[in-house]
Amino acid sequence: MSKFQKEFEKALKLIEKSNNILIISHKNPDGDTIGSNLSLRKVLICDFGKNVTSVCADPLPKSLLFLPDSNVFENKIDPNKHDLIITVDASSVDQLKFAEIDEKFLKSGKAIINIDHHPTNKKFGTLNIVDENASCATEILYYFFEFVKATIVPSTATHLLAGLYNDTGSFMHSNTSSSSYKIASKLLEAGAALPRIVKHMFKTQSIEQLRLWGKVLSNARLNKKGTLVSKITNDDFYETNSTPRDLMGVINYLNSVSRSNLSILLSEDMEGHVKGSMRTSKNDVNVASLCEKLGGGGHKKAAGFTIPGKIVTEEVWRIEEE
Ligand code: AMP
Ligand code: MN
Ligand code: MN
Repeated sequence: MSKFQKEFEKALKLIEKSNNILIISHKNPDGDTIGSNLSLRKVLICDFGKNVTSVCADPLPKSLLFLPDSNVFENKIDPNKHDLIITVDASSVDQLKFAEIDEKFLKSGKAIINIDHHPTNKKFGTLNIVDENASCATEILYYFFEFVKATIVPSTATHLLAGLYNDTGSFMHSNTSSSSYKIASKLLEAGAALPRIVKHMFKTQSIEQLRLWGKVLSNARLNKKGTLVSKITNDDFYETNSTPRDLMGVINYLNSVSRSNLSILLSEDMEGHVKGSMRTSKNDVNVASLCEKLGGGGHKKAAGFTIPGKIVTEEVWRIEEE
């Protein structure tokens, strides 16, 4: 029996009495939020016969276009047209980036199911299915699909496995559990396209991206306390003909420095913001709480924030006696 038995029962009831369902992925989407959206979409259409609209405020990165049905996403919403909203892998309303879903809308009592695994989740739904021990949101959906006895066709298995691979960094991050491996095994049996996931999500890079990563790596500085910082400015994006999305994944290289207790990548976003990504491999450092102080959030070992401003380089000189 699932630990979310009661929540799953409530979710099932909400789904059964709805006709038009809106599924929202988080902004700046990754394999987990997209895999969650597309797998749930398939089950709601094929097993429940619902009308489903899948949305994401930002376009999908190239690395996810191989996913079956990746072309279904819309970027505009009219939430009043839907009788149920389901958000996937989003810790807060901000992460959805749809102005229509604001405080006032949330207070209207519209049915919203919030399916997520971030410990910093703001529980903004009318029903919150938030499991911070799940390695990814598709893991929670896997158990939900089992609960409703949904049919896992090969494309659904691929969507779910893409979420697992994305958030566990190919089963290398510390959030990888025996449950992650168990589910992965079931998904492979159900026909998940593992070689395509590996090829498109982990082994395909453009020369522009490589040049940008070169700048990230050469800008890295490590202080005596083991804080490693690197930065990318808008000029770096222009010089390498790349975009902020091309940074996805590079922080894992920064975090592989053995003396680093905390790795930070600061990057400008062309719209007057600085995005910070933080990672740690230490159990006694909690980057989610550090990022929460800056208005962001995430997981204990992987978190981020965005603040208005730009990056200013500061040089400090010191004379040391011989
Ligand atoms: P990133 O560094 O962007 O790869 O994000 C690492 C983790 O932190 C992901 O799980 C994100 O969902 C989360 N995260 C990043 N930025 C924010 C933010 N501004 N607010 C809340 N969570 C965030
Ligand atoms: Mn995500
Ligand atoms: Mn996730």
